[in-house]
Amino acid sequence: MRKKSLFWLSAFSFLFLLSCGQVKEVSGGDTSRRDSIVKASPKDVILEKEISDALEYLSSDELQGRETGTDGIEKAAQFIESVFEEHDLKPFFGTYRDSFEVKGRTGYNLVGMVEGTDPVLKNEFIIVGAHYDHVGRQKPVGGDDIANGANDNASGTTAVLELAKYFSARAPKRSVLFTLFSAEEMGLVGAKELAKELKSEGLDLYTMFNIEMIGVPMTGKEYKAYITGYDISNMAEKLNEYSGQPVLGFLPEAKQYSLFQRSDNYPFFQEFNVPAQTISTFDFTNYKYYHHVDDEFEKMDVTHMKDLIEAILPGLVGMANTPGKEIKLN
Ligand SMILES: [Zn+2]
Repeated sequence: MRKKSLFWLSAFSFLFLLSCGQVKEVSGGDTSRRDSIVKASPKDVILEKEISDALEYLSSDELQGRETGTDGIEKAAQFIESVFEEHDLKPFFGTYRDSFEVKGRTGYNLVGMVEGTDPVLKNEFIIVGAHYDHVGRQKPVGGDDIANGANDNASGTTAVLELAKYFSARAPKRSVLFTLFSAEEMGLVGAKELAKELKSEGLDLYTMFNIEMIGVPMTGKEYKAYITGYDISNMAEKLNEYSGQPVLGFLPEAKQYSLFQRSDNYPFFQEFNVPAQTISTFDFTNYKYYHHVDDEFEKMDVTHMKDLIEAILPGLVGMANTPGKEIKLN
């Protein structure tokens, strides 16, 4: 079901703009400026046990590798909906589900919204996303044929859910859509559908922040995760500035293998021409089980995931609260 809700939101915001005038620019030193836009204290809310439980369920054999159109991914979808419901996220469409057809199957993106608190900025959107589908059953290895996709991408899905929980309790000025995509593994199909749909509804998209394969840490880097399309925008630089530490950096292999074009951020870049990028900690040396039946929960470093989610949080809070759109394409 796809309800055309944005027209009314836009119409309302236009009227509001007419009556309210401009918001004030924040200025001043870096630290005070950061304090004024970043009020994250993630240590209180990001719980390692919740990360572990969600990740373990999403990558369990019960979900059969979460292939689009199967009973297994249906269970994942219901789990995501239950988290959205429990934390009072608004369904962006008539329901949390945004459905599409792909190769004779029905896929569902899940879209939950935290509405911004600022009467004007709430009409600007940030998308925080990850794909939750995987490749289902594969060639058996040692009697196991379920590709559990713990790193790819139960880890990113879990991170998006944790961020949704955080923001649902502390809504920022801009609105945030938490989106879990299906059919990524079939060619970014879910993200393409949603990007087109949101574009046709006139969504004012500020940025898109996508999360892929963050279950295993990198070693020997001075940053915690790399961002794809590093030099396409100043997103990494600004998020690091809001965080007050080098959380996101440049990985040469990401450029070499064109990772910017290979995940769900890309359709949003194409449709909206705004900063839309993916972060990851899979660096081609730290995990042997990409699209392998051994990509399992037991191989995930949950403590690292918690540290990373906490580290990216102040950057996202900053992005969602600055008076102006500071993150721009280069
Ligand atoms: Zn993936």
